[in-house]
Amino acid sequence: MRVIVLGSGVIGTSVAYYLARSGHDVTVIDRQPGPALETSYANAGEVSPGYSAPWAGPGVPMKAIKWLLMQHSPLVVKPMLDAALWRFCLQMLANCNAEAYEVNKSRMVRLAEYSRDCLRELRDETGIRYDERTRGTLQLFRTQKQLDGVAKDIEVLKSSGVPFEVLDRKGFVEVEPGLAETQHKFVGALRLPGDETGDCFKFTQSLAKMAEALGVRFRFGVAIEGLEQAGSRITGVRTAEGLLTADQYVVALGSYSTALLARFLGKGGLAAGGEVKDGGNPTVSGRFGPGQVVKY
Ligand SMILES: Cc1cc2nc3c(=O)[nH]c(=O)nc-3n(C[C@H](O)[C@H](O)[C@H](O)COP(=O)(O)OP(=O)(O)OC[C@H]3O[C@@H](n4cnc5c(N)ncnc54)[C@H](O)[C@@H]3O)c2cc1C
Repeated sequence: MRVIVLGSGVIGTSVAYYLARSGHDVTVIDRQPGPALETSYANAGEVSPGYSAPWAGPGVPMKAIKWLLMQHSPLVVKPMLDAALWRFCLQMLANCNAEAYEVNKSRMVRLAEYSRDCLRELRDETGIRYDERTRGTLQLFRTQKQLDGVAKDIEVLKSSGVPFEVLDRKGFVEVEPGLAETQHKFVGALRLPGDETGDCFKFTQSLAKMAEALGVRFRFGVAIEGLEQAGSRITGVRTAEGLLTADQYVVALGSYSTALLARFLGKGGLAAGGEVKDGGNPTVSGRFGPGQVVKY
């Protein structure tokens, strides 16, 4: 099958690698001169399934108001007449309760755990190196209130079977002796031994080379302008270098995916293969629609 993957960040490149490994004829298009030069270039490098959590949660609306009033605010919302923005805010608000938080977090943890296990399998299979470390992560808490606040997360970790430890000062200094001098600044820690870290840019650059060795063609410096559609089928990708066609299309443009698919969203979904269907949730890369982020 001929497949065009739109975007060569960590998601597009991984999809291309797995499709080529399954014997498909894959072309990847990206406007940058190489893989992983946008969001996947410099992230925090955490592979932390246990920390996967929805932004929407109990207490977030009050926190958001406080943040918006801060001088160096971690949250900026430009009020404008944009239906998509207000629809997003209302959906966010509707999910700021304990029930929705638990459901959304448990789904994200399951997905992230599966993704982490695929990463381990890929590492064993290919020997890919990306400054990875597999010694877990430690979240430190400055106040008792913060430490008490992870109780709801711990319930999800327990129900998802994710190993964890809640550590006191003696405990986290044993795990990380470098904290001995500053232990008085923290009341405790949550350790997730199954977590890892690594360089997402290096990972994606190396995986792209492996995908190329499997026959994947990367077309860099090509801007995507839109999708061609005939009836209920996507029939091609309009680019600055002309129309490109395939049997199937995977959209992995990161935060730019929604804009490309905007005219499809809300009019019924896209099923795998770019066919428009009524009433379904939008699915683009065969499994997840825009807005559901899989952390690499
Ligand atoms: C500051 C920060 C820290 C983060 N830390 C972590 C972390 O510790 N752990 C973690 O798991 N996640 C982290 N993330 C999230 C993670 O980096 C992203 O989820 C991931 O990189 C998204 O990959 P992607 O392939 O979907 O998108 P991208 O890497 O953005 O790839 C999309 C590609 O599409 C291309 N593209 C877009 N539009 C067009 C167009 N019109 N024409 C042609 N090409 C186009 C771009 O050039 C780009 O290469 C962090 C994100 C940020 C911003």
